Amino acid sequence: MSSKSEEKLPVHVVIFPFPAQGHMNCMLNLAHLFCLSDFHVTFIVSEFTHRLLLRNTSVPATFAAYPGFQFRAIPDGLPDDHPRSGAKGADVVPAVTTNMVPLFKKMMADEDLLASPHRRPVTCFVADGFFSFAPDFAEENGIPLVYFRTPSASYFWAMISFIQAQQIPIQGKSMDELVKGIPGMEGFLRGRDLPGFFRSDDVNVRLFQSLTAAIRQTARAQAVIFNTFEDLEGPILSIMLQKLPRIFTIGPIHEHQKSRLIENKSEASIVAGNFWAEDRSCIDWLNAQPLRSVIYVSFGSITVVTREQLMEFWHGLVNSSHRFLWVMRPDSITGGDQISAELMEGTKEKGYLVKWAPQEEVLNHPAVGGFLTHSGWNSTLESIVAGVPMICWPYFGDQTINSRFVSEVWKIGLDIKDSCDRLIIEKAVREVMEVRKDEFLERADGMAKMAKKAVERGGSSYANLDALIGYIKSLIIT
Ligand code: UDP
Repeated sequence: MSSKSEEKLPVHVVIFPFPAQGHMNCMLNLAHLFCLSDFHVTFIVSEFTHRLLLRNTSVPATFAAYPGFQFRAIPDGLPDDHPRSGAKGADVVPAVTTNMVPLFKKMMADEDLLASPHRRPVTCFVADGFFSFAPDFAEENGIPLVYFRTPSASYFWAMISFIQAQQIPIQGKSMDELVKGIPGMEGFLRGRDLPGFFRSDDVNVRLFQSLTAAIRQTARAQAVIFNTFEDLEGPILSIMLQKLPRIFTIGPIHEHQKSRLIENKSEASIVAGNFWAEDRSCIDWLNAQPLRSVIYVSFGSITVVTREQLMEFWHGLVNSSHRFLWVMRPDSITGGDQISAELMEGTKEKGYLVKWAPQEEVLNHPAVGGFLTHSGWNSTLESIVAGVPMICWPYFGDQTINSRFVSEVWKIGLDIKDSCDRLIIEKAVREVMEVRKDEFLERADGMAKMAKKAVERGGSSYANLDALIGYIKSLIIT
């Protein structure tokens, strides 16, 4: 029962994303949507990622306009000079579990669930779907739990079905055999489309164990949010309702944020939580390129490539004769971050390299005609909203499934997984940029229209966000 003074206070949501780029981006978008509904929001960041947000973005300034919003920064326990990305990115998972999570629990206990004269104790805990500690923690503290599963719904469904069917590992079986036991995906999902850890003989690897533990916990939450929309993953979502009765699909969330800001006539900026400084010179370069002539190349924030793979991509791109804009993070090349003089020189004619790009703006630029991507879920949705066909080179996690959906279900691009050969890359670029250009662009444009419609008044994600907000408000016990 809340006190009289508390009754006047708005709901208070604590949002705890896993501190990685893709997770933070969409959960910051959610925080912004909640702020627009006058919620109080406490957003948990690692001290490291908080510093990056302060250094490279206007995110803290944007949220400063909402008095009910606060960041709470917690150390992740890794040394300050640890890169936390590229090949070293995997260290973050155990560091968060052993350092950040206990400190978060202690903070919540010491501060009476973050209650203050101006803030009611936490009404609802929105936890990253990565966090298997969340259901026990929420139950012990009597707080309702809403999971935010940041990858695709199809990935979640494939994981949970496959784990239950106990078909692990898939090594030894033909990678091209169709996978049985995943309702809704029979007929197109092959062994090679399953996440890479199913290929390992050692299913006890720590990351796999931690991911599957979290997936098994999902049904204990009162509700689950997915960054997707009904026209995109509808058939899978309908089947999933058997296991997860309260699902809110509110995506594409980056576009949803935009749509609500416009509707609210808000002057707040779009929140984009970049960990690296954007190099905006690529927009000037794009401005000088013809319509739909450039293939944008980016493998997100975690993927690393070997020098050999890098050279195959580079030769494939150069030999295709198409223009390209390539994001090459300094930590993304194993065996050193020096880009060879040959590569730099050979790129000048047709290409442009940056360390980090304003990706949404790039994808929406009229000069961009294709996206060579690692099929991260945020990148996939951003490409869908922009109507840009994709060439998918998935790296890990949900990406292997997302890329199969791009090529076989939505038919808005090609999937070149498990190959990194200059001839295949050249051919794929020509297919998307020339041979099948009109066909792909037409379908991508249709999908973009559906994505935008979903987040406008009358659309499914728009209605679902209203329902989520109503649901969280209903959790206040008076
Ligand atoms: N991104 C960006 N600039 C870049 C590369 C990536 O802003 O140069 C953003 C991209 O827009 C997306 C996120 O980083 O929102 C990457 O998330 P995704 O889920 O696609 O992949 P991950 O990095 O988690 O593998």
